[in-house]
Amino acid sequence: MVTPATRRTGFVCDEAYFAHTTDEGLGPWVAPGPAFETPAGKRRIRDLVRDAGLLAELVPLAPEPLTRQDALRFHTAEYLDRLVAMSQAEGGNAGEDTWFGPGSWEIALLAAGGAATAVRAVLTGEVDNAYALVRPPGHHAERHWGRGYCLLANLALAVMKARDELGVGRVAVVDWDVHHGNGTEQAFAADPETLAISLHQDRLYPRETGWVQHVGEGAGVGTTINLPLPSGSGSGAYLDAFDRVVEPAVRRFRPDLVVVASGFDAGGLDPLGRMMLSAGAFAEMTRRVRNLADELCAGRLAMTHEGGYSELHAPFCGLRVLEEMSGASAEVEDPFDFIDDYGAQALTPHQRDAVDAVVRAHGLVQA
Ligand code: ZN
Repeated sequence: MVTPATRRTGFVCDEAYFAHTTDEGLGPWVAPGPAFETPAGKRRIRDLVRDAGLLAELVPLAPEPLTRQDALRFHTAEYLDRLVAMSQAEGGNAGEDTWFGPGSWEIALLAAGGAATAVRAVLTGEVDNAYALVRPPGHHAERHWGRGYCLLANLALAVMKARDELGVGRVAVVDWDVHHGNGTEQAFAADPETLAISLHQDRLYPRETGWVQHVGEGAGVGTTINLPLPSGSGSGAYLDAFDRVVEPAVRRFRPDLVVVASGFDAGGLDPLGRMMLSAGAFAEMTRRVRNLADELCAGRLAMTHEGGYSELHAPFCGLRVLEEMSGASAEVEDPFDFIDDYGAQALTPHQRDAVDAVVRAHGLVQA
């Protein structure tokens, strides 16, 4: 039994996203095999959303692929040429830890295009909010190379395109993937019109980025906010970060649109992250950003999918996020809600110190 949606929530997905193949590239000592980032992790999210009856409550949005010209708003021509050449051959490594198979250039354009489609549908009023469940992910991709399973900077390219074509002004980005949103940071470091907030596990990946003292460059100083949290953080730390950094910073910025880089790898069962969020915690963070968007920009909220490597847990996180966005409820029992009972879910002093450092670095006053 599904409680009906109260908002028009767009949902972008495409079978092509599951045709993108990956490899961890660990040779020569172990046999080649899939990376942590696999089609199944994302397909299972789509399948649960469908099987729970929630898909029928969402507005399907067909992704429009980006063009090479669109990708050139951020990436170098040399990098794109390299991607195309590898994609037309047997695949290769886009840069760092980003092995892919043949045909992924077109799929990457469709993934970035999926993010752009979600943003466009929200800005034109076709839907109230939207979620793009895309592969490959995007927030690690830098100007001249791919990193961390990411080929193109999906979210950054979507925002840049919306700016050029739809004239959207100030955009606030909240990245709750457990890894640092380094590509998004690079794209907007000098841009005062884009606030890029990344909550991530301290020095997880990339290890050299995501520091509190990295606050933007030139005219963009102050509009990059890095919030590295200690490993082992649970809902107490994340909600303290929302209370004292994310919410006051977004309010102070007064955005016309809120975009979330949504990864589920801060989940308590993720093999790559060491955080402790439950599906219920992702629902609460979604409620927080939805309320911010309601308060500041007529509810305009778009999310694009990044990481999340527990094939069992991530679907339940995705379901709860989409329930919060749409107002529909599928009333599916969460078999992993025991994560909420893990010890040290409540805020600890060292986690509070980590948030304090960001409050101080950005002159954020507690409400
Ligand atoms: Zn991640």
